[in-house]
Amino acid sequence: MVEISIRKRPLTGIEASASTQKFFKKTARGKVVKVVRERYLRSDISCGSSSCQKCKESHLSAISSKQSNSPTVLLSQKGLANSVVRGNHYLILDTNVFLHQIDLIENPSFTDIIVLQTVLDEVRHRSLPLYNRLKALISDPDRRFWVFYNDFSSETAVLRQTDESPNDRNDRAIRTAVEWYRSHLTLSTGPTSSTRSNLDVVLISDDADNVRKAKEANLRAYNVREYVNGMSNADQLLDLLSARSVGGDSELGGDRRSLLYPEHLPTAQVQAGLKSGVLISGFFNANAYNYLEGTVRTSAFDKPVLLVGREAMNRAVDGDVVAVTILPKEEWKAAADEVIEADSALKNDDAEASDDEGENSGDVDREEARLARKEARDAELAAKSRTSEPQPTGKVVGIVRRNWRSYVAHVDVSSVHDASSLGPQSLFATPVDRKIPRIRIRTRQASNLIGQKILVALDAWRPTSRYPDGHFVRALGATESKEAEQESLLLEHDVPYRPFSKAILDCLPVEGDDWKVPPKDFSNPAWRDRIDMRSEMICSIDPPGCQDIDDALHAKQLPNGNIEAGVHIADVSYFVKPDNPMDAEAASRGTTVYLVDKRIDMLPHLLGTNLCSLRPYVERLAFSAVWEMTPDADIVSVRFFKSVIASKAAFTYEEAQLRKDDKSKTDEITKSIRLLNSLAIKLKKKRMDAGALNLASPEVRIHLDSSESAAPIDVEQKEMRETNSLVEEFMLLANVSVAEKIYETFPMTAVLRRHQPPPKTNFETLQDILKKRKGMDLDVSSSGALAASLDLCVDPKEPAFNTLVRIMATRCMLSAEYFCSGSVARDTFGHYGLACGMYTHFTSPIRRYADVLAHRQLSAAINYAPLHPSLHSKDHVDDILNVVNKRHRSAQMASRASVEFYVGLAITEKNRSAGGGETVGKGEVKLREEAFVIRTFRNGIAVFVSKFGLEGLITFKEECEFDAEEYKVKVPSRVSGLSKDVELGIFDKCLVEIGVEKDKNTKRGKTKMALVLG
Ligand SMILES: [Zn+2]
Repeated sequence: MVEISIRKRPLTGIEASASTQKFFKKTARGKVVKVVRERYLRSDISCGSSSCQKCKESHLSAISSKQSNSPTVLLSQKGLANSVVRGNHYLILDTNVFLHQIDLIENPSFTDIIVLQTVLDEVRHRSLPLYNRLKALISDPDRRFWVFYNDFSSETAVLRQTDESPNDRNDRAIRTAVEWYRSHLTLSTGPTSSTRSNLDVVLISDDADNVRKAKEANLRAYNVREYVNGMSNADQLLDLLSARSVGGDSELGGDRRSLLYPEHLPTAQVQAGLKSGVLISGFFNANAYNYLEGTVRTSAFDKPVLLVGREAMNRAVDGDVVAVTILPKEEWKAAADEVIEADSALKNDDAEASDDEGENSGDVDREEARLARKEARDAELAAKSRTSEPQPTGKVVGIVRRNWRSYVAHVDVSSVHDASSLGPQSLFATPVDRKIPRIRIRTRQASNLIGQKILVALDAWRPTSRYPDGHFVRALGATESKEAEQESLLLEHDVPYRPFSKAILDCLPVEGDDWKVPPKDFSNPAWRDRIDMRSEMICSIDPPGCQDIDDALHAKQLPNGNIEAGVHIADVSYFVKPDNPMDAEAASRGTTVYLVDKRIDMLPHLLGTNLCSLRPYVERLAFSAVWEMTPDADIVSVRFFKSVIASKAAFTYEEAQLRKDDKSKTDEITKSIRLLNSLAIKLKKKRMDAGALNLASPEVRIHLDSSESAAPIDVEQKEMRETNSLVEEFMLLANVSVAEKIYETFPMTAVLRRHQPPPKTNFETLQDILKKRKGMDLDVSSSGALAASLDLCVDPKEPAFNTLVRIMATRCMLSAEYFCSGSVARDTFGHYGLACGMYTHFTSPIRRYADVLAHRQLSAAINYAPLHPSLHSKDHVDDILNVVNKRHRSAQMASRASVEFYVGLAITEKNRSAGGGETVGKGEVKLREEAFVIRTFRNGIAVFVSKFGLEGLITFKEECEFDAEEYKVKVPSRVSGLSKDVELGIFDKCLVEIGVEKDKNTKRGKTKMALVLG
């Protein structure tokens, strides 16, 4: 092995002072200490080229030492070839390339790239998601990305000059590094060396100024488009270019066409306006029923601020944070009572039209303006016909923050000009999400993309263009194929689904599946301070097929007449230590995601389904909560401790139920279940008496054929048994008890979960509908009152009605969220739905990260292990919980989308086996189901089919007689095509035909419904 010595030299003079970094750090106990960090410049930082003779030795040592933080894969010997660049070379990319063109750089054609420390730092500072994508590239050995620590090298470190902006300093640092590489490579791989590689470096930047200055310094520099044009697969790569790229034909700026939207205010003006209260800000919500309307919810008004028409929405995209100005009260409007679908309204738009600057640009201008006027008129007409109360109305004047992501979309066939052409053409991609506008992309492979699901990124939305511009990222596969559907719903809901990396898997116990709880020995770390619960009659009760069993229970009679009941939770924090790669991954995944046919785990398989899963007949480490209760389920005491358990049985809800009800069974386990059940009934009664809500969401269960066939065989509504409730009550009890304990010990940083009471105004519409349509009252003064009045919403002729009302009431509520106890006011801790004062999640640490944190805090609260310093920091806990809350929401949406997809398949299958066709509304489709009307519009109704948990929109081709006050619409037979006129109001039942129809333009299957007569 080659020995190397690292020479360090302290800096002198001005360099030394500039290289001293001071910062303040809070210690675990809250003391503030000053940290001074000195930076030593080194002269031995290697260039990373495998052709370099000079750096050869330090490369060898880097490879043999295998430091995890420095990539050990070198830049290739030959470098890259490109038809516009003379000679072979490596690439140095400017920060803006990583920020705007990451989709392009992720293409495998980009290899042998030098990532400067200056650039890496700036990317991290500007965008964490992009930084993570860049880090993934750096750690991929096939890509050969070399990080060069230019700020640590004595030859390339650059100090900021007094009159220089940080940006200019960075640009200069980049050019300095390019210059150094150029001479370093010439000397070490050039003509005088034996390798004669003659390698050079090339700077790629979309900053025209940086390119110009580089060229002036005799360096080689290109913008992204110039360079990509010289690559062998340029045709394919040009599609991936961001619409923000310079030098292209769709270049931004220099646009001479007239404005269709008002310009956005500059950031400084927006900030000043928000500060002075002239402007208000909030999230923009697009209306899924009407593409010409959106709302912004702000704390300034009870009702959301309405935005009517495209101009008022001014290029806001669903999820953006926008700055809004409120119109004078006399201009306020009411929300539309009409369905306006973009698909049909805009079918004649031309994607090329607003892209050409050719001779007919005058025509294009006129056509654009005409469409804009038509839309404005539509929006106005819809607004005029409204009958409900006006609400605050405004318009978007600026963007506070764009929340753009990549969107799953379909190519709109009607926008493809020439399907056989391999030349570039503009076309529309229609996002799967109805709230996202069509995106114009430029592509050379239109013919290949038709009928595919594709991923599209948004780049910009110019005020002269009716549509935003974006670029193609990649194809996901044929529309309706299971693989494409599955991946697209993971992408669409931002669920991380990559396999666990080696660094993460390295955190698992080396014994793998053979890991066992060691023989009892309290000096062994696995047994330290644990209570041996192996002889207790512990069992688990779960849905059928459950593999990740995170909870088990027991109960027994105590000599004093009381009952001991225990909840035992997988001791995940024994295996997942704070701050290692596995912990970081679990924190960023936040939760396990359950799809109908796939589970995306938060923790590696080995833990989730084996070592942490409380399987029967094996010993497992657990975290136990054990109560002494009176026979009336009053708590006498609670203890928390780490334990070793050996579950005696794993039941399904059904098995446990049968066992409990079987009078002939008198074994210990059955007795234990009966005891638990009797306590659970009392616990539940106490909760209900305290005002807990029985909420409902449309839950259906998909039966998959066990064979390889894709089609589900049936859909059924989930059934609830007594034993479901048994498990639920004890989990709730454990979560409440743990919440109290960790809050008592860590009042500033306890990880808790709350459900805030909904604003009363949220229920106004539902209350009015119930009153007018059914003569029923909904009392929303408290959760208890709401629960009681929901119980009274019963239609004896219609058992499903009560569930429907619960579903609608649930939609009026806010969602529950995790929070850090020190970050919100004490009187907002409560959980509205559960009617309890404090709550957390402790019982599912295998599949929820918040529970892992609660375990660590509880573990410290009982003095089992010291608390990791990060869990003493309010900011840190806030940051983690923000991510976890977001992931939790996405996971729910992904699961729902997965169910919907399978419901669609089941419907298609049912129709096919009944010999039906695909066209809905022509009597071809055979599947008919009863549905409830849940919304009425001037030109349509929204219905809910309980059997499938499915909502559908039925639109009529013209306006009907509409009674907004009474929530009724009268549909004449000539409009509906039925044999007689029908009148329908909310909560009425109707018969619908359900089928899956392929959209003509996007080839995508959509569930459609049509009204039929019974
Ligand atoms: Zn070198």
